[in-house]
Amino acid sequence: MASTEHAPSYAHLEFDTPLYRTAVAQFDQAVPYADVADGVAERLRYPERSVIVGCPVRLDSGQRAVFPGYRVQHSSVLGPTKGGVRYDPHVSLGECAALAVWMTWKCALLRLPYGGAKGGVRCDPRAMSRAELERLTRRFTSELLPFIGPQEDIPAPDMATNEQTMAWMMDTYSMQRGHAVPEIVTGKPISIGGSVFRHEATGAGVVMVIARACERLGWRLSEQRCVVQGFGNVGGIAAQELVDRGALVIGVADHSGGVWDPAGLDIPTMSQYALEHRSLEGWEVGTRISNEELLELDCDILVLAAREDQIHGDNAHRLRCRMIAEGANGPTSLEADAVLRERGIPVLPDILTNAGGVTVSYFEWVQDLGRLFWGRDEIRAKLAEKLNDAFDRVWEIGGEKGISLRTAALVAGIREVGAALDARGLYP
Ligand code: NAD
Repeated sequence: MASTEHAPSYAHLEFDTPLYRTAVAQFDQAVPYADVADGVAERLRYPERSVIVGCPVRLDSGQRAVFPGYRVQHSSVLGPTKGGVRYDPHVSLGECAALAVWMTWKCALLRLPYGGAKGGVRCDPRAMSRAELERLTRRFTSELLPFIGPQEDIPAPDMATNEQTMAWMMDTYSMQRGHAVPEIVTGKPISIGGSVFRHEATGAGVVMVIARACERLGWRLSEQRCVVQGFGNVGGIAAQELVDRGALVIGVADHSGGVWDPAGLDIPTMSQYALEHRSLEGWEVGTRISNEELLELDCDILVLAAREDQIHGDNAHRLRCRMIAEGANGPTSLEADAVLRERGIPVLPDILTNAGGVTVSYFEWVQDLGRLFWGRDEIRAKLAEKLNDAFDRVWEIGGEKGISLRTAALVAGIREVGAALDARGLYP
């Protein structure tokens, strides 16, 4: 499209932002190794659908506010689109588009019958009451009704959204349909068709991928000193899983800053504190440090589980870890990737490392459609099997082509989507 004189370049489209350009640049690095036709590659540079909605909400004060909401669906060639919903002041069309692109490669890499989507509402969730968040969620869901569905697009939790948010979305959708539709969202409470292992899935998956990488590198996970940035659903659970496997977690951070103790932190107590206080603000044990200092701590494994764009050209030279695991989406810039590769620091890429969430979401959707539910051990075992299979393919492609694990993971995902697009052909 961009290469013909009749179509505008994507540089003029509304989702074209620095994060989206990072997603496209990563794609461009991987495409030459993926053996897909030029026309197919060109199609995959663009989301299929990008929606902006306005969500008017009655605030507790009695006043009304209108919040912009977004949903971007990147590719539906393999099945319904799938992706999280985030509430954050930085949510934009470009951010959602980039995250939707990554979701496509992630689902394909894991061989799930889904394409990528992402959405969110631009708001400050920490400044809103539970009742305001409920009204916002219900209105956002209503605005998206023409675009979502169990066979069209299936939302899930992401930053600042959780099981309760998904319950409100499921209820709003179901009330419109006239019957319960649990398969419209994943990551919902177990009482309405949620999966017993979904809450822990992303963080547990991060540590399964780290464990596999340690095996390949000949490291013992139980001897590693770890730092975790982000102490929410992904980071909090990953920190606990690391401790459960005998590793030492010496630093964690959330939006209130970092905490460091070279002798190891008491993760269960800190998790309880963060749950009760909605953050680690006020936590007194250990040395308080800034987020920037946390990223540069001397450690073996640095887990990035907060948000995008944390490791960049300015700080990549200063990191003192031996390996990075991306629990968050897009935490490492292209420039940083190049620096880390030169320094020999392996990066376990987001589309592989945090894929536990969408994989167990897929299990949840399958269980909802079949109205037949599996136990925790079965789900955990199926997840490990899926992640290990994906890891081994990525490791093999990386070694065979002499490319980074990120590019190898993208190649594996792009190949699956490219083959499907090729087989289906161009409509009409
Ligand atoms: P969350 O809201 O539960 O937690 C985010 C954490 O990051 C919080 O502790 C927050 O305080 C912290 N944080 C925010 N900004 C920060 C900053 N500048 N510095 C340090 N900490 C900061 O969200 P989550 O679900 O854990 O998601 C975290 C990341 O993982 C996001 O990139 C998300 O897209 C990605 N992800 C989440 C899932 C999932 O299942 N929840 C799945 C795949 C990927």
